This record gives sequence, C-alpha cells and structure tokens, in this order.
Amino acid sequence: RTATNRAKQLGRGRLEIFRPGMEDSGNRLRLETDLSRAIERGELSLRYQPIVSLTSGQIVGFEALVRWQHPEAGWIPSDQLIAIAEETGLIIPIGLWVLQTACQQLCRWQKQFPDLQPLTVSVNVSSKQFIQTDLVAQITQVLQETDLPGNHLKLELTESLLMESESAAIAMLSQLQELGVQILMDDFGTGYSNLARMRNLPTDVVKVDKSLIQSLDAQNLAFVRGIVALAHSLSKTVVVEGIETQEQLAQLREMDCAYGQGYLFSPPVDIAQVENLLSQSPHW
Ligand code: C2E
Ligand code: MG
Ligand code: MG
Ligand code: MG
Repeated sequence: RTATNRAKQLGRGRLEIFRPGMEDSGNRLRLETDLSRAIERGELSLRYQPIVSLTSGQIVGFEALVRWQHPEAGWIPSDQLIAIAEETGLIIPIGLWVLQTACQQLCRWQKQFPDLQPLTVSVNVSSKQFIQTDLVAQITQVLQETDLPGNHLKLELTESLLMESESAAIAMLSQLQELGVQILMDDFGTGYSNLARMRNLPTDVVKVDKSLIQSLDAQNLAFVRGIVALAHSLSKTVVVEGIETQEQLAQLREMDCAYGQGYLFSPPVDIAQVENLLSQSPHW
C-alpha cells in the first residue's frame, strides 16, 4: 500500500514538471537526464514546414523543426527543449542528429519525387553548436554520407549568435558557402537587429520574424517593406515566416518578397503529410 502510494506520488511529481511554473531543480535534472537518452530511445523526431515561393506559389523546400515526445509527459515545447539542450551541451549531439536526419530525408524525397524541382532543407543551428563544434567538418561529412549536394542545405542562424563572435563567424560562414550551403539569418527584425550586420555578414537569406507579420499595422508594414528593400539592395533573398492570412500574403507579394512560410500554407508536418503535399503539388 505504501509502495503504491509512493509510486503514485512519484508519478504525480513527474508530471508536474511540465506544468508551467512548476519546474523545480530536481525535476529539471530529471528532464535533463531523460533528454540525454532521448536520441537512442527514438523519442526525437522532425517536423517539416513548407517554404513557398511567393512568385510561383509552389513549395521550394522545408524547414526541419525538432520535436521531443517524452514517454510520460508527452510533447515538450520546443523552446523548452532547446533551452535544456543548450544549457547541458546536449544540443551538440541533438544538432548533429537533426542535420543527418533532415539531409537523409530530403534525399529520400528527391528520389521519391524525381519530377519535382530540386528541394532544399533548412536546419536551425544554435550558438553552442556553432561555437563548440567544427561545424564545417561536420557538415562536409553529413553531405558526403547522405550524398546531398551542398546547395540543397540551408542553415538558419540567429543574429545574436553571429554577434557573439563576429570575425570567427565570418570565416566559418564563408567556408560553408564554399560548400554551396546557404546561410540564413533567422528571426530578423527582433532584438538588436543591426543593418550593418546584415550588410557585412556573408549571409544569403534574411528571414523576417513572425512577430512583425502577426501585427501588420502601418508601422510594421513600413518596417517589413524597408527590410525587404534593403535585403534586395544587398542581393539577399527574403523569407517571411508566420504568414497566417491571405491578406498578409497579398501585402508581402506586393512588396516583392520572394518566399514565405506559415500556417496559411501549412504548419510543420510529419513525413507522411509532407509526402501528401508533394504528391498533390499545391500552389497558393
Ligand atoms: P524558428 O526557427 O524561428 O522556427 C519558426 C517557429 O515558428 C516554429 O516553432 C514554427 O512552428 C512556428 N511557426 C511557423 N509558422 C507559423 C505561423 O504561421 N504562426 C505562428 N504563430 N507560428 C508559426 P517551433 O517549431 O516551436 O520552434 C521554435 C524555435 O525552436 C525555432 O524558431 C528554433 O529557434 C528552435 N528550434 C526548433 N527546432 C530546432 C532545431 O532542430 N535546432 C535548433 N538549434 N533550434 C530549433
Ligand atoms: Mg528557423
Ligand atoms: Mg525564425
Ligand atoms: Mg523564431
């Protein structure tokens, strides 16, 4: 009876970890331990969100987004997962797993749908991963192993990451670009967005943060228009994320924004749903 009660208590305590505001250090430790085994236990998976050409209206690629299904607590919010992964250093093996899995998957789709235009896959890279691993060597190896041409891979980096170690970052980004890999500046327009950095860093694509699109009032509209114009003048491509309505889409098309991503087209979906999309080849 006591044993049952204790098990019940443990079980309850465990679920409480995941209630907002209920995170104590013991529970946190447990979550960290569980995350360290998540790859080998097959608890991580990827979702893929289509990126759409706003001129052709067709899917040109996908952003890979990691998901963790905890055996007891269910889906862990990705912000929380990434935060724990970064603090513990687990982002390094997890980041490698994401890279390998996304590149392998894109190769499969390319073979499965040979009539489609070449697709790209975008992978998010966190600052620890960027600083602590030899990313260039790692990516060279993944591209070799998966037989994926470098120009099918895009890396999404945040501005804050690029701010931390600017000269080292520039050297690394240039090496990656030599492999054909495109560099994308994620979450642009939030935090300390810096126009000089947009100009100076070897990046190919600027991704405008969804927070600017969610309230596309006159001011934000002007701001987004400015970012698009500046990016174009620097020969950079623009992707706008977080497009949810036809009205937003129309406004972005009007400013000649090249690519978009958002719930209007599709949320991040699993492999089967991507295959459905690709066989229907929708256009918006
Ligand atoms: P992010 O790279 O800026 O990814 C875009 C986020 O916006 C995704 O959230 C996506 O589901 C969400 N989103 C897409 N379209 C819409 C829309 O129309 N409306 C709204 N409200 N949201 C939309 P998610 O998947 O929860 O990821 C959150 C963040 O976690 C990502 O932001 C990225 O910074 C990080 N992340 C996710 N996967 C990875 C990964 O494999 N590695 C690393 N380092 N970070 C990752
Ligand atoms: Mg991203
Ligand atoms: Mg983003
Ligand atoms: Mg973001």
